[in-house]
Amino acid sequence: MSEKDKNDRKEFSEETIDQAWKRSKGRCECQRKTHGHEGQCNKKLVYSNRGRDNDDYWEAHHRNGDETNNNLDHCLIFCWGCHKQTIAEDAEKNKSPKK
Ligand SMILES: [Zn+2]
Ligand SMILES: [Zn+2]
Repeated sequence: MSEKDKNDRKEFSEETIDQAWKRSKGRCECQRKTHGHEGQCNKKLVYSNRGRDNDDYWEAHHRNGDETNNNLDHCLIFCWGCHKQTIAEDAEKNKSPKK
């Protein structure tokens, strides 16, 4: 992994996201205990709302925040609330400015 690659924001391929969505059955796959949901969040999501700014918004999230790994098993379907909270928590943990 070169320095240049690190600076490129990696994204999942559409195919990977599609497969992850099918795996999730349209439910949030977040399992963080700090979010207040027991076990898996399971919030019902709408496929066409991906990336939109509303209540049913969802996004593909990198497991462990590892943006260099775009394999299907690192692609998690997260609802907007979990996605936002996870990013905030990871940022707090790492305390490294990302931009
Ligand atoms: Zn969720
Ligand atoms: Zn959550």
